[in-house]
Amino acid sequence: MSASNKNDSGLLDRYAEVTGREVIHHLQQLAAPLKGAKVVHVNSTREGGGVAEILQKLIPLKRALGIDASWEVINGSPDFYECTKGFHNGLQGMGSPIPKKLLAEYEKINAANAENLRGTLEEADFVVIHDPQPAPLLSHCPARRGRWLWRCHIDASHPYRPVWKYLRQWVIPYDASIFSIPQFAQPLPHPQYIVAPSIDPLSEKNRDLPLAELQTVRERFNLDPALPLMLQVSRYDRFKDPLGVVQACQLAGKLTPLQLVLAGGGASDDPEGEAVLEEVRQAAADDPRIQVLLLPADAHHTINALQRTADIVLQKSIREGFGLTVAEAMWKGKPVIGGDTGGIRLQVFNHYTGFLVRTPEGAALRIRYLLHRRELLKEMGQRAQRFVGENFLITRHLREYLTMLLGLQN
Ligand code: UDP
Repeated sequence: MSASNKNDSGLLDRYAEVTGREVIHHLQQLAAPLKGAKVVHVNSTREGGGVAEILQKLIPLKRALGIDASWEVINGSPDFYECTKGFHNGLQGMGSPIPKKLLAEYEKINAANAENLRGTLEEADFVVIHDPQPAPLLSHCPARRGRWLWRCHIDASHPYRPVWKYLRQWVIPYDASIFSIPQFAQPLPHPQYIVAPSIDPLSEKNRDLPLAELQTVRERFNLDPALPLMLQVSRYDRFKDPLGVVQACQLAGKLTPLQLVLAGGGASDDPEGEAVLEEVRQAAADDPRIQVLLLPADAHHTINALQRTADIVLQKSIREGFGLTVAEAMWKGKPVIGGDTGGIRLQVFNHYTGFLVRTPEGAALRIRYLLHRRELLKEMGQRAQRFVGENFLITRHLREYLTMLLGLQN
C-alpha cells in the first residue's frame, strides 16, 4: 500500500470538516520529516477495549499523513491472558502474587510471538508496545534499529509492588514510556511522555446519526420513551463497577422514575468478563427497568445510538486509565457521572462537564439532581461536547504522537 494516495487526502479532508483546515495543515507539517518512517504498533487484541478502538483509527490517519504505520497483534493462550489480567489488576492496585507457572507462560508466549514478528520489529523506525502483554518483545529483538516506546493505558498510579517490580524489568530497556496522565508515571530510567487518548469523530461509534436510527435502536431494546435513560457502556470488569451502577440507579429510581442500560461486550484478552456479567445479571434480575446487554465487539453503531439516546451517561469506574466511553458520551452532548479516579478526572470537571462520584449513593444523588434540572443537564452536555472537541479528538492525539516521535528520531 502506498503511504499516501487520493483516498488519504479524502480522509484528511473529512477530518478538516470537523477540526478546521489549519489543524490538518499542522499535522501535515509535523509528519513531513517522518514521511515513509516505519511505525509498528503492537497490542494483544484486534477488538474490544479502548486500545483496539484507538489503533483502528490512528493507523489509517498516520498512513494518510505519509507514515508507514502498521499494527500487529500478539496471540496468547488462556494462561497467558490469565497472567496479563493479573498484571492489569496488579497495576491498578488490586494485585495478588502471580504464580510462577503463569509468568513462565507469559515469557514463553512472548518468545513465540517474537519468532513471527522479529523481522518487522527489528527493521521498524519506531515500535510502540501497548500495555504489559507484549512488553518482553523488545528483549527478543537484539538487532533492532529503531526507537521503542512502551505505551501504558492502565491506571498505574498505585501499582501492587510485586507485579510492577516484575514488569519493570521488561520496560526499563525501552527508549521511552507513555502514560495517559502524570499521576501514572513511574520511576524509570528513560523519558516519560504524557499523552491522553482520544476518540475519532468520524468513526461509526461517534459519527452523527439521523433521528430515525435512534428510534430504531429504541424500539429494538424496548426502551420506554417516557422514562429517562441512564447508560453505562463498558466491558464487564470489576474496575468499571457495573454493580455500583445498578445500585445507584435502583437508589435513584426509588424516587425518580428512570431506566438503565448496561451495554458491554468482552475483549478477547479479558478472561474475567463472563463471571462479572453473571454477577450483574443476578443483581438486575428482578428489575424490569434494567437491561444488561452483551453486545458483539463490532456493535459500534448500536453503542453510538444508545449514547445519543441516553439522558445521562455513567462511568462509575473505581480505576480508569482514561475511559474512552466518557469522551464518547461527552462528544454526544451528554453529561457524565463518572468515578472520581484516573483519566475520568481529566474529562469530567465536577459540576461543569458532569459529576465525579465515589459511591453508588453519590451517583444516585447526582442522577436525581440532574434529572430535576433539565436545563442544567443540557448545558453541561453542551460544555462537555465543546471540551472534548478542544481536547480529546484524534487529531490532538496524533499531533502529540508526531511531536514525540520527532523528538525521539535518530
Ligand atoms: N466498547 C465497545 N463495546 C462494548 C464495550 C466497550 O465497543 O461492549 C468500546 C467503548 O465504546 C470504548 C472502548 O470499547 O470505545 C472502551 O474503552 P475505555 O477506555 O472506556 O475502557 P477499556 O475497555 O479500555 O478499559
